[in-house]
Order: sequence, then structure tokens, then C-alpha cells
Amino acid sequence: MIIRHTSQIGEPVIRKKALRVKDVQSVKTKKMVRDLIDSMRYHQLVGMAAPQIGISAQIFVTEIRKTETRKNPKQLDHLRVFINPRIIHVSKKQETDYEGCGSVADAQLFAPVQRPNMVTIEALNEYGEVFILEAKGLLARVIQHEFDHLQGKVFLDRVRVTTAILDRQNYISRQK
Ligand SMILES: [Zn+2]
Repeated sequence: MIIRHTSQIGEPVIRKKALRVKDVQSVKTKKMVRDLIDSMRYHQLVGMAAPQIGISAQIFVTEIRKTETRKNPKQLDHLRVFINPRIIHVSKKQETDYEGCGSVADAQLFAPVQRPNMVTIEALNEYGEVFILEAKGLLARVIQHEFDHLQGKVFLDRVRVTTAILDRQNYISRQK
């Protein structure tokens, strides 16, 4: 198992548009996917994108596991791999909720981000097969957050109410 350093805001790879994956089935791609999954789990994140482990590639993974503050079974979701994803539809209805990010984890900031509450995404899975997923709620939010990373964006770019930004301790105390 290889746990990669999580690239932080300020590192150029976080602000670059990620390169398309040409060979989904290559050993190199398989290794990147494996490293992303291991790193996401190790850092206890619900999603992680390749630029966050220093790789410019259009890959992200999601997995919404049960935690102390996330117990609602409706929110939980199994491991998913997205390669060369395209968002093909977003709902008009938007929702605002707090987000954090492994790439601002050193700064430990959490802030409210408004996003469409439903999203339809097309991508390749780890076997190179095309799939289309319609996601809502927390999974839709995680997908949009990770997709943004592939465009060189972080959630802080989307924060409108900067006075609502919280540090980790204040964020956690409000979850209870
Ligand atoms: Zn992030």
C-alpha cells in the first residue's frame, strides 16, 4: 500500500487542468487508481482526485463511509472510480452545505458551498467501461467537488459567504 502526500493549495498541480487518460488499462493507470484509493482511505476522505496526489490525470475516486458524524445510511455509498469524466447534466435546484478538502487540510478550513443537488456524470470505470451515473445529495456534492479538482478548482473558489468559513474544531463541534 502506498500512501501519497496530499498536494496542498499553492502547489501548481492543484491549479492545473488535469490531462486526459489515454490508456485506461495500462499498468500505470491501474497503479494511479490503487494509490488514489489507498490515499483516500488513509486520509479518511470521501473522495480524492489524482492532482491531489501530485498526478495530472483525469481520475477521481469516491467512497462515502460511515463515520462518527456521518451515520445516515442514505448518505453512504460504495467505492467508485471515475476516469475522463464529463458532467452531462446538473439540476436547477441547488443546495448549500459545508465542505472540506484534503488539499486544504493543512489549513483545516471548512466552508459552505452552493451546488446543484443532482448531477449526471459520464465516465470510464477502472475496467475502461463507459457508465452514466445520476447522483444526488452528498454523492452529487462529492462528485462535483472532485470533478472541480480535475479543472484546477478547489471548493474555496466557490465560497460566497467567506464569513462562514470555519476551522476544523468549530466545524466538528457544529456537527454534533
Ligand atoms: Zn478536495
